[in-house]
Amino acid sequence: MSLDPTQLTAFNRTYYLQKIEDSSNPQGACRVWNRGGEGGGSYPRMRITIPGRGSHQYRIHQLVYALNNNKKLDTPYFEISHLCHNTQCVNLEHLSYEPHVTNMQRVNCVSTGHCLGGHGTQTEQYRACIL
Ligand SMILES: [Zn+2]
Ligand SMILES: [Zn+2]
Repeated sequence: MSLDPTQLTAFNRTYYLQKIEDSSNPQGACRVWNRGGEGGGSYPRMRITIPGRGSHQYRIHQLVYALNNNKKLDTPYFEISHLCHNTQCVNLEHLSYEPHVTNMQRVNCVSTGHCLGGHGTQTEQYRACIL
C-alpha cells in the first residue's frame, strides 16, 4: 500500500518522526536505525496507523521522507534512494525521491567507490551520491 502521510494529523506526523529520531543514532554523517526492523530484510520497517486505512509496516527511510515532506509517495517508478548507500540510514538529507533507473545508476558508484555523477533524467537532475 502506498504511503499517504497527508491522511495523518500534524500531531501524528510529528509523533512518528520523533519516534524515529529516538530510535536512531548518529554514525558518521548518517543517522542509523538502532531497533532492528519489524519486517526484517535490509531495510528496517516500522508499523504506523493511518486513520481509515489501518496499520501497516513501512520502510523507515520512506517514512522519514514522506512524513517530513507530507507527501504521498505515488509517482510511478519512483522510489526513495539512499545517497549514502546505507540501507539503515534515516537521515533525511541522505534521501532522494527519484526514478528507479536513477537509483540503479548509483549502484555503479558504490562499486567504483566514488560518485560517477550523471544522476538525472531529461527533466530533472538528482543529487550526487555521498560516498
Ligand atoms: Zn546516510
Ligand atoms: Zn553516484
